[in-house]
Amino acid sequence: MGRICVLSDELASQVAAGEVVERPASIVKELCENSLDAGARRISVEFAQGGSRLISVQDDGCGMDAADAALCIERHATSKLRNAHGLSTVRTMGFRGEALPSMASVSRFRLVTRPPEAEAGTEVIVTGGRLESVRDAGAPPGTLVEIRDLFFNIPARRKFLRGEETEAARILHTIHGTALSAFSTGMECRRDGRVLFQLPPAQSLGVRLNDLFGREFLDRLQPLPAFEGEGFEVSGFLARPGAGRRDRHQQWVILNGRPIMCPEASQALREAYAGALPAGQHPMAVLQIEMDPTLVDCNVHPAKRVVRFARPEAVRRGIYDAAQGILRSVVSAAAPSQPMPPEEPRPQSQPPPKIFPRTTPPPAEPILPGIPKGASSDPLPDHPSEGTADSSFHILGRLGAHLFLFEGPEGLVILDTRGARERIAFERLLRGIESGQAPIQRLLLPEVVELPVREYAWILDHREALAEAGFLIEPFGASTLKIEGVPALGSGLPPASLLHTVAASMRDAGRLPRGHGLREVLARSVCGAALGPPPALTPDEAERLLRNLLACELPYAAPGGQPTLIQFSFAELDRKFGRFN
Ligand code: ADP
Ligand code: MG
Repeated sequence: MGRICVLSDELASQVAAGEVVERPASIVKELCENSLDAGARRISVEFAQGGSRLISVQDDGCGMDAADAALCIERHATSKLRNAHGLSTVRTMGFRGEALPSMASVSRFRLVTRPPEAEAGTEVIVTGGRLESVRDAGAPPGTLVEIRDLFFNIPARRKFLRGEETEAARILHTIHGTALSAFSTGMECRRDGRVLFQLPPAQSLGVRLNDLFGREFLDRLQPLPAFEGEGFEVSGFLARPGAGRRDRHQQWVILNGRPIMCPEASQALREAYAGALPAGQHPMAVLQIEMDPTLVDCNVHPAKRVVRFARPEAVRRGIYDAAQGILRSVVSAAAPSQPMPPEEPRPQSQPPPKIFPRTTPPPAEPILPGIPKGASSDPLPDHPSEGTADSSFHILGRLGAHLFLFEGPEGLVILDTRGARERIAFERLLRGIESGQAPIQRLLLPEVVELPVREYAWILDHREALAEAGFLIEPFGASTLKIEGVPALGSGLPPASLLHTVAASMRDAGRLPRGHGLREVLARSVCGAALGPPPALTPDEAERLLRNLLACELPYAAPGGQPTLIQFSFAELDRKFGRFN
């Protein structure tokens, strides 16, 4: 007997189910995409026990007639693709005709559907891939799909599900992605019988973000006006300096209306925010990319979550440039007075947003107008450069040891003199390193130090980079170095301990980047070691510091990512004082 046999349809569906129906979140994603493809104006999602007991998605879309309802659970039944030519240009979300049969093969599946114009609807019931019944049923226009007891017939797969909380968090991340990409569709979500949110159709992504996560979340983001990359356009919202999160779950990339995982974007954001967020934090981001569909292959992943760009480097570059643009022009948001949202959206005790008459959010408030960005080619003028920010900011006074208050055109601005001083010194040193002119203090008497073997080896390995910052070092025996010069930052630290501290902090930074990245790490380490305690400033000095800060390339964050300026806008202060207008 031959060994090869054709898989039964049931088995083939279960195999395909392994790809499309990885876990509850992927089911939610497929069902929501089907609803959007069906032109839904409202989608209601419900799940119970992390989706393993129940997932249900109800829409008011075009529905299916009885014949299509019976057909849609057959493998490769799709209304969206007729021939291979269509593959490269398809704009609907689904096109493989695999999702519904896959789900139906690994759950207790129920579909109820009715086209708006039809008299009656159709109910289809499938249990573990076996068709139980197709019959007429009363139904509202649109489609309801219910998936119960996921993987009940494949215990091995069921075991792979993570804990209820983990699966629920993934479902929510997915639903958030859908809610953001399809902001003009009303969305409702219930978990274990409890309403998590009810979102009215929104006119813009900003309104949807406000409805979904609240005003304080939006306040920490900056709108990104449409940015022209090579062969695509990106817009959306990006974190302001300092507005990061420990986890990466608040980054969404929406490509041609479809949420995707986008390593190119994550990498670009990581690089762009390297100096604008504390280590280990990720910027919040919602990026909408519009791209000619022939420049991207969406068919490389069964669930279409990962895509392949024809020019990934251009995408990375474009997003990096867009993020840099934001970081150079935007002041840090005041930190939220409450913890930021939540894997889980607003608690139920808060009424869902549609109850409020919605005001159009003015998301553009944080830009400080009139500040000449990088206006001078020397980023660190020691003298006030002409026509700079001084006219826009009035100093109000000192607050505590290191903060100064200013009145700016948009509200109260608080300057942290520590971060400002670090940013200015950092850019000055970086500039020096890059032009080969970092100021060096030559030692009258070279200092000879003996070092632990590993540190000795590390320093010699990085001797060239260290020399760019001003460390003149010669080997002087087995584990002994001669130091002939150090960076001239006026720290007064003994040369050997300065070298030791810089080397230790660079080694802490982990795997070192090359080129510009390496110079940044170097400059950050040297500044960290050499700056010494911050001096107390007079108001005049604080004003001068602010001017020098605003002439920097990235004025709004210290090199370690802490904000240097925080603004409380008049609008925000009015809100806090209960003055709505
Ligand atoms: P695909 O989305 O790749 O076409 P699916 O298995 O997800 O495959 O769906 C199969 C077909 O069933 C779709 O092409 C569509 O015609 C129909 N369908 C699925 N969900 C809905 C829905 N919510 N409303 C209307 N039609 C639907
Ligand atoms: Mg589909």
